[in-house]
Amino acid sequence: MPEGKLYLVGTPIGNLGDLSPRAVRTLERVDFIAAEDTRVTLKLLTHFGVKKPLLSYNEHNRAECGPRILNRLLAGESCALVTDAGMPAISDPGADLVCLCAGAGVETVIVPGPCAAVSALALSALPTQRFCFEGFLSTANKSRMEHLESLRTERRTMIFYEAPHKLQRTLDDFLKYFGDRPLSLCRELTKVHEEVIRTTVSEAVARFAQTPPRGEFVLILAGAPEPEKPAFTQEQAAALVAQYRAQGMPLRQAARRAAEDTGFSKNELYQLALSETDAESETDA
Ligand code: SAM
Repeated sequence: MPEGKLYLVGTPIGNLGDLSPRAVRTLERVDFIAAEDTRVTLKLLTHFGVKKPLLSYNEHNRAECGPRILNRLLAGESCALVTDAGMPAISDPGADLVCLCAGAGVETVIVPGPCAAVSALALSALPTQRFCFEGFLSTANKSRMEHLESLRTERRTMIFYEAPHKLQRTLDDFLKYFGDRPLSLCRELTKVHEEVIRTTVSEAVARFAQTPPRGEFVLILAGAPEPEKPAFTQEQAAALVAQYRAQGMPLRQAARRAAEDTGFSKNELYQLALSETDAESETDA
């Protein structure tokens, strides 16, 4: 294995069969493994028959452990970074270490694996062309409110992580800030009790008020609907064409712009303007 590199290794989010052969090879070949919880990773390594020195790198010790790992990388050792589940650096410790390595010119190599966010999005049956990852909502009132407020008009499909004991509060807040809209709750992905509940926010609120949630959740929330265009009369649309023409636009372009603004058909506005021009020239004659 080339020396002095950090390997970001994705690990299963439930099903051990999802650990890739490349991930196993990488874990076997690096000099040491930095793990979020060494006990969790030890179980994974034991299952795959990998024996390797482990050190702990997590939210609480990253400020002191990050530089220590970096020094070992600079000295030529190779390190695999893993977390308890999924892709390191996605709502997980790791992003800081990647920055540290980037700043010091240490190469980081990706060994991709499952990610709960993308897996849930793919299963959600909601639009996937444009989406945004919002991670966990803060439990502190102020930052939570600011986060939710900033998403009120978000059109993209939104992805949230949530723990079961906080789900009800989050669903209540969704209803309060976003109103009733499609929501897919993806639970225990790749595990025995994997479940996808494709519903709406209000139905989810009612459902979990009766049955307490269990397991780990990813919430996929539909984006805000397109705002309705204001209704224009044909006279107002025609006046817009005239206004664009007075600004120097050719008739076709003026009709197209006015059509976009008003919802009328471009051809209809074009023909209307032509007939008005003909009528004017007849009057002039
Ligand atoms: N780095 C991980 C990833 O790539 O998805 C995410 C780690 S984050 C600390 C843990 C959260 O991910 C959980 O609270 C849950 O929202 C989500 N999650 C992880 N595994 C899951 C699973 N099997 N099914 C559903 N959600 C899961």
